[in-house]
Formats: sequence, structure tokens, C-alpha cells
Amino acid sequence: MAAYPSSARISSVSLKNKVLQTPCFIFPTSKGTIPHLTPDNINHNEVPVVYFGLEDSLDLLEKSPILNADGEIDKWVAGTPSQSILIAPRRSSPLPSVSAGPHHIQVLTSSGLRKLTNEVYVKAITKLRPEIAIPLNDNPSNAPGVKRKPKMIERSVTWTDELLTVLQNKQLTEKVKVFFPIPNVEAPFLNPLIERFRENDYQQNISGLACYGNLQSIPSELSIYPKLFLRPLLTPLAILQSIHQGADIVMADLVNQASDAGIVFTFSFPPPVEDLQNRKLELAWDMWHNRFATDLSSLQPGCNCNICQSYSRAYVHHLLQTRELVGWIMVQQHNIHVFHNFFCGIRDSIAAGSFLEDTERFERIYAPNFPRTTGLGPRKRGYQMDLTDVQPIENKPNWVQLKTETDDDKTSHMIQKKENAQEFQEPELPERDTTVGNFADTYAAQSENKSGSELEEDLLAELDEIDDSAYRENRMQSLKEEFERVSAAKEKGHMQYLTVESEREVMDLTTSSKRVVIHFFHPDFRRCKIMDSHLEKISKSHWETKFIRIEAANAPFLALKLGLKVLPVVLCYVDASLVSKLVGFADLGNNDDFDTPVLEFWLLKWAAIEKIKENIPQGKKSIMGFKDTKNESEDSDLD
Ligand SMILES: [Zn+2]
Repeated sequence: MAAYPSSARISSVSLKNKVLQTPCFIFPTSKGTIPHLTPDNINHNEVPVVYFGLEDSLDLLEKSPILNADGEIDKWVAGTPSQSILIAPRRSSPLPSVSAGPHHIQVLTSSGLRKLTNEVYVKAITKLRPEIAIPLNDNPSNAPGVKRKPKMIERSVTWTDELLTVLQNKQLTEKVKVFFPIPNVEAPFLNPLIERFRENDYQQNISGLACYGNLQSIPSELSIYPKLFLRPLLTPLAILQSIHQGADIVMADLVNQASDAGIVFTFSFPPPVEDLQNRKLELAWDMWHNRFATDLSSLQPGCNCNICQSYSRAYVHHLLQTRELVGWIMVQQHNIHVFHNFFCGIRDSIAAGSFLEDTERFERIYAPNFPRTTGLGPRKRGYQMDLTDVQPIENKPNWVQLKTETDDDKTSHMIQKKENAQEFQEPELPERDTTVGNFADTYAAQSENKSGSELEEDLLAELDEIDDSAYRENRMQSLKEEFERVSAAKEKGHMQYLTVESEREVMDLTTSSKRVVIHFFHPDFRRCKIMDSHLEKISKSHWETKFIRIEAANAPFLALKLGLKVLPVVLCYVDASLVSKLVGFADLGNNDDFDTPVLEFWLLKWAAIEKIKENIPQGKKSIMGFKDTKNESEDSDLD
């Protein structure tokens, strides 16, 4: 068993009116709201701090009277005075956004992409006065270039300094604790921070570190500060490992994810003493599962939460099956209680000096992951709702009975296709050299006008410039493979934006390529034409994906099944499964003027394309649609 090099420790963080014992967790919320719960059914000892990403309500905040009145955070968020709030610029698991400048970052608000300047952010912090604030920081969601990395550090310092100055002038440094944002960059880039942290103002006014990257990159000189680890941790073991790596506070994203799925926690720490014969204990149970339909025991034997005291598994199973929202409330309350006890156990175990041993035993006796949910979650929430849980219609509409035989054939055909989807999948391709991919993109673009042999000549000419013969050989092989991939994709009808006429064709196409993007359009809708123009551009350079369009009127069955009411709608299929649905321009900033990369990002998020391509033709506009305000120092790793 691999031992963890442990930096686990017990410590505390003093806030305005409470002391946080660490290791502990912070709960992600939407403007202070803990999913499924109202403030009166939360045990505030169990959730002492909630996380609030300002981007969630930035545009509303700017319009509200809050910025002109002092100390009204209780009115602004759904919390209680006993619950401390952490404000950060972005959500805990933000959607991609890449660009930033010397005075702003780009964020995704409830009404689309916006610039958040440090001036507005500092103003919001001084008005809302959260107990913990993470200063504005530049943390692009894709890997930053080498030039960007030192700038990310400089910006963290500049923006933190600006916030500290204002907090000092307003005598708020005791009320608002500042956690310095450490960007996701490698250790050498962080070295300049060591000097900065030796200075008086940082020693006095920085209360912790907000770590967006690897904990082990953080200079040991800064190890005295409490570390809030902001990467999502999806299993209890991942949490234990991050604590061994020095995390003092972690984000509790996994609690919401489990509760949404109707999964109830059954793990504890320290773990039970083993008496298992080659069997692993389950971390959680899927309460949707029929095995609980008549099970009258409590959710978790031995749990003393309010729910386990009074209700059975069969009851919670029934509530989920009948979509009674109280079912999710119960699951969330139990899960928060278990999660809170998990951290109490971690602190006791560290204090007793047995944390390493207990972690190893936890890893040995528990299953590595949560069970897969078999049920349906509650409706998606939040301003940035992703419309992925497109569910089949439960009650058949009456008119189905009036349909012709042919239509029924289509239905059964589609179901059959889905079941056999495996047969049609493209083989997984090995990891590729990204520069080779770029070459292939160029060839893909040129192959519009050139024949295969011409392209191969170009390829060989390109390779002649490389000296190292072994490398050349290797690279030639990769390039040829890549080139064949492009040609094969072309043969399958990729790299063009195809209009199909029948639903049957749509269904066939979703299973014949690994990635398929379908636009349901109306010929007279202006926004459908806008969508067409972007998809047309994207289809030319993303040879890994098939792009098609169908007039919605020609797809009545799909339109009903998928609940299409507003057009345009774009669906993404990966491995023959629907992974996402874009309705109108909701996820593109609700703006008719959006630039192609905004749509490209959305497709990337759902893995409907492999990566962002750099050769998509752009107008005069800047990359994210701020045509008039782009300045020379705007950083985007797409530029
Ligand atoms: Zn319980």
C-alpha cells in the first residue's frame, strides 16, 4: 500500500463571530442557498460557512440598491446571521471563461458573459462584508500559456492589494478575512509571492490561501497559512488525500451531487473495523433502487440525524419515486450530517495520530466510488442551468395511439439503435501529439481545394525541415495517421453542415459517428439563421464531429419526445447518447451578436468537439464579443 506523505494538520481560522476548526468544508451555494434546504432546516453547526460566487448575481447586484447601502448581506443572501459567507468572484465549479485584462476578468452571469472589474468587485466586498473574501483572480479554465502565468500571479497581487487598501481605509480588515488567491500554475511561477508575503501588510491582513491549483506547488514558506482547496473533490478518499497534501478547508461539491442523485451516504471516518471477506463496503446507497422499496430500516444504521430518527429507506424511496421534493430535502439533511461527522472524525483521527493508518484502512475497505444513480434527479437549478437531463416522456400522449404503423416503426427503430449503439462506436484513439493535431487541422482546412497526393507532398516537404531522423520518422507516422483520420472523417460526411430531411436519417446519424451535433431549425427564424452561420464555420474545422440540421417540422416525433418548444435547439450526441441541449441562445449570453468561440466553448464543455480550434475565421470582433472594448493587454489563450 502506498503511504501518503502526509501534511495533514489540525488548526483553526478565526472569523468575525466564530472559530472554524480545520480540517473542515465550505458548502457551495447559489447566493447563499443550500440546495434543497431553507435556512430554518439547516443545522448551522454542521454548515458553518457557505460559498457564494458573485458572478451568479453580478448583473442583479449592479442594479440593486445594495451597492449604495452598507452591510446588508443578510438581506441579499438567503442565510442567517450565524452562517458565515465566503464570497469569491466565480462559482465553485465555474463554466469555462478564458479572457482577462489588467483590470477585469470575464465571468458568466445570469444574463451571459460580463466583465467583472476589480473596482466593482472591491465595492461589492466592502458593501456585502462577507466573513471571508477571495480577491479577484485570473484563473482561465483551460491551460494558460507560458506568458500568461506570471501575469496571473501579478494580477492576484495587484487586485488583492487594491482590496486590502479599501478594507483598511474602511476599517473592515477585522470583519472581512482575505484569503489570497493562488492561481493554478507550477511552483516556480509562485516564487515571487514568497517576498511579497514577507511584507507587513500581508503578514497582518492575509488570513489564508485560496488554492486553485496543485497544493504541492505552494512554497513551503507559505505553509503557515490555512489553505482552502478549491478544486472539486468527488469522493471521500479524494478529500482525505487532499488533507494529507495540506488542505485545511475543502469544497463540499460532492454532497450536492449525491443528494441531487438520491444517493445517501453510508461512509464514516475513522472507518469501521474490518470484518469483510474480500468484499468492499459501499460509500453510499442509491435510494431509487427497488431493493429499498420495502426496507423499513433507517437510511444509515447508527446515524442520529433527524431523518434517520423518524423515517425509513422505503419512505425516502417512495418520495423519490413520486418526485416529492421532500425526498431530496431528507437525503440532503442526512448527507450533510454524515459529511459533518466525517470531518469531526478526520480531526479526531489527526489528533490521535492515526490519520494515515485510518486513511489507508478507509481506502482498503470502502468501494472507490459512489454507486451510479438509477433514478432521475430533481430539476436542474441555477442561472446557468445545463439542460442535460432531457428525460423521456413518462405518460404517453394520447395522439400516439392514432399514429400510423410507420411511426411506431420509427420509435422501435430508435430504441433498437440506442441499445445497439456500442456496435457503431468509433474505436478510441490513442493520445496524440497536439502539434500533430494542429497540422491535421491545417490539412483539413486545405483539403477543401487540394487532392490527397498534393497534401501528402506538402506533408513530406514540411517534414524535410526536421533534422532528427528518428523523430522525423515517428512524426511522419503520426501525421499520416492523423491525415487518414481527417480523410476518413470527410468520407463519413464530416466537415460539412448537412441538411437532413427525415427523422429516420437523424436517428441513423446519431449512432454512426462518435460525436454528432444537430440543429433543429425553422426556415423563417432569424436566430436559426444566426445559429446556422456559426455551426457552418465550426463544422469546417471540427472534423471529429458530424454537424447536421433538420427543419423541426420534419421531426415531429423527436420534437415531442425532446419537448422542443423554442427554436433554435442544438442537441449534442456523444457515443449515441444525448449529452446536452441548447435552447435558444440561453447558454450563449442571450445575445444575438455572440462570436463563434462562445458556441465552440459550449460544445467543448459537453465533449461534442475535441478541443478549441484556432483557425476559425473571425470577424473584426474580439474573441468573446466585446468588440468595442478589447484592448491590447487583453489575455486570452485563444488569441
Ligand atoms: Zn441520517
